[in-house]
Amino acid sequence: MRGCPIGMTGRRGIKVKNKIVLKPSYWASVSGGKDSLYMLFYILLNLNKYPLDGVVHFELEIDFPFIKNVIDYMESECKKYGIKFVRIKPRTTWKELYNQYGYPTRVSRWCNSKYKLDAQRQCKDFLKSQGYQLVTYIGYCADEVNRFEKRAGNNEIYPLVDAGINESKILDWAKEVPIFNDYYKFNKRCGCMYCPMCTMNNLAYILLYYPNSYEEMMKLAKETELLLGREYGKPFSVFSGNPKYNAVYKDKRVREKYLPQLEEQLKKDNIYTTLIK
Ligand code: SF4
Repeated sequence: MRGCPIGMTGRRGIKVKNKIVLKPSYWASVSGGKDSLYMLFYILLNLNKYPLDGVVHFELEIDFPFIKNVIDYMESECKKYGIKFVRIKPRTTWKELYNQYGYPTRVSRWCNSKYKLDAQRQCKDFLKSQGYQLVTYIGYCADEVNRFEKRAGNNEIYPLVDAGINESKILDWAKEVPIFNDYYKFNKRCGCMYCPMCTMNNLAYILLYYPNSYEEMMKLAKETELLLGREYGKPFSVFSGNPKYNAVYKDKRVREKYLPQLEEQLKKDNIYTTLIK
């Protein structure tokens, strides 16, 4: 790892009966999506209940561009409270991994294991080397039981679950927050931009708001489907177990159905009409 990604120095764990006992270090993990922003506000307003050594964002090339603005905003808020804010990038870029493995697929999501989680590993390993154990605040909502229940015992704390705050409440709030660039008016959750799991609404949003990224995404997805199709001797889709729903199909459907639907809704809601040609 290059240098100290989170700017901590020195203090070590304590030795008990010849065993090093790691001291907890509390970090809020923020993706820049609605739940993490809401959680950060909640923690900052309840620091007596939630000790906070810092806030960490795992910075990905495939984050939606508006996420960068949310993260900058979070950093400025943390500064007001004197809270450390750090961004950690994976050591290998998405494009380098793409050149090695092709476009991630629904079943082979290297984008998570080899890419996104590498940033988290750097954070964990560095703290461990300094005698600390990472304890992470994560923005799961109270009604996301199937997401957080199986992770119990992972040194994670879920403040929104403690507070009984459901996802729909945060979604309603996020729809009206301009920094989210209308994203939550049309989408419930925000993953990465080049996601093999993305919905048709996600794709239509990307095509309308970030057309260059959309074209690049489809180009790379189609390339991988062609290569794997040749290798397996049968059609392949990065988006679905059914090869019919490949990038060519998705691209066509997005342009013919989902983009016009989105534009219609934008007109109806009188949102950013300048985007529509
Ligand atoms: S949100 Fe999608 S692209 Fe991002 S890590 Fe998860 S599966 Fe991969």
